Amino acid sequence: MTEFHEEVRVRFAPSPTGHLHVGGARTALFNYLFAKSHNGKFLLRIEDTDKERSEEGFASEINQSLRWLGFNWDEEPIYQSERTEMYLSNAAQLISTNDAYHCFCEPSELDEKRKEAQRNKKQYKYDQKCRGIDKVEIENRLKDSDRFAIRFATPNEGISVVHDLVYGEVKFENNEIDDFIIVRSDGTPTYQLAVVTDDKHMAISHVIRGDDHLSNTPKQQLIFSALGVKPPLYAHLPLIMGPDGKRLSKRHGATSVAEFQNEGLLPEAFLNHLALLGWSPKDDTEFMNIDELIRRFKIEHVSKRSAIFDYKKLIWLNGKHLSSKSAEDLIPIVSAEWGLPADSQIDKIYLKKVLELVKERAKTRKELLNFGKYFFEDPDSYDDKGRNKYWNDTEVNSNVQKLLQDLEESDSFTEEKIEEVLRSTAETLGIKAAELIHPVRLALTGFSISPSLFEIMELLGKETSTRRLKFALERLP
Ligand code: GLU
Repeated sequence: MTEFHEEVRVRFAPSPTGHLHVGGARTALFNYLFAKSHNGKFLLRIEDTDKERSEEGFASEINQSLRWLGFNWDEEPIYQSERTEMYLSNAAQLISTNDAYHCFCEPSELDEKRKEAQRNKKQYKYDQKCRGIDKVEIENRLKDSDRFAIRFATPNEGISVVHDLVYGEVKFENNEIDDFIIVRSDGTPTYQLAVVTDDKHMAISHVIRGDDHLSNTPKQQLIFSALGVKPPLYAHLPLIMGPDGKRLSKRHGATSVAEFQNEGLLPEAFLNHLALLGWSPKDDTEFMNIDELIRRFKIEHVSKRSAIFDYKKLIWLNGKHLSSKSAEDLIPIVSAEWGLPADSQIDKIYLKKVLELVKERAKTRKELLNFGKYFFEDPDSYDDKGRNKYWNDTEVNSNVQKLLQDLEESDSFTEEKIEEVLRSTAETLGIKAAELIHPVRLALTGFSISPSLFEIMELLGKETSTRRLKFALERLP
């Protein structure tokens, strides 16, 4: 047996027949974390042998999504469509050792047998009719150019054991495993043959993939051992469900990585949530960046219980990642939307102050953009809640009018000074400070909630603040 497990080498092997979805992205992430936490290699293999269903557009979108998530592969990606020769040469080797054989059965004949099994309510399994054909007959039929497929000669006795790193020991009766096809009658290799050939050739040490592949694993192990190569170790990841406990689907919301990206989610937050789908660091930590994930990830801690994709938690994590970013890092996210010239120093200082203030409260990019907007343009409307609750009669107008006067007379416009003026105005009017704070907030921001009003006012400056108050006095209630 050839040993090749000294170095950790894992692969992510998407089929480009659709978008990269949550499940695929989670598989990619766990492979990536496993590789990086073992100083190993993370490789990419595009399984594009299904010519009818594979599309170049999907391959490049998958590529783009993986890059957005920050996964860089350590070697040139492999495209299965370019390696047919290699797969066929492995098939020839398997035939030469009698681990595979030519099958000349007609599709119609097989169909009939399949239907019969169905009628008898039996699991269909190929009856191995061609397994015993002798060499001479095979030669003759090949000369006559009879169509054939190549089947793997599965042992009829014994058991195959998969020592799965997540599922533990899983046993399969060999006599329940079909003599599965490795080369179709049109000469194309099947998934089982291509995967094993590539995993062998790429010296993959660990196969980490969705648990829908668990039943393929005994077949792949059998091919490996027929080729005289020790199979990789396997880890199968649990299913992902929606919040209602049903298999995650479009009904639940966005499921493709591109959709989450377009919604303006931070890749850090998306990754963070993906990591928690079936894995946990065995304490209550949920908010983690990629370095911490790499440091703490252990494949043994992946659970086989199905995982829930929790949209609410994703948004919460997004908020945490957003506020943990420096104002400087957030500038590229907002500057275009707020129409700011990128190189003006003055603007940059102002912009950073604004971001410091709003990032604590925003959970999404959209909120960040919304909450920050009033630092750059006067509000053109006021939210209903604020209007109904805080500015519903003209008494508010006379109170705000008095405050406006006091502010205009004030010589400085610092946070402290503004607060002092507002509190003293309230005292003079015999009302609570809150009865001024709420309407003023509405006038200045258009919202009924915001970060500290006095900080906002200092940042906006006297001219803008008083202009907005006058404007609101004309329009409200
Ligand atoms: N191409 C397969 C899929 O997208 C993965 C095969 C594997 O990981 O072995 O499901």
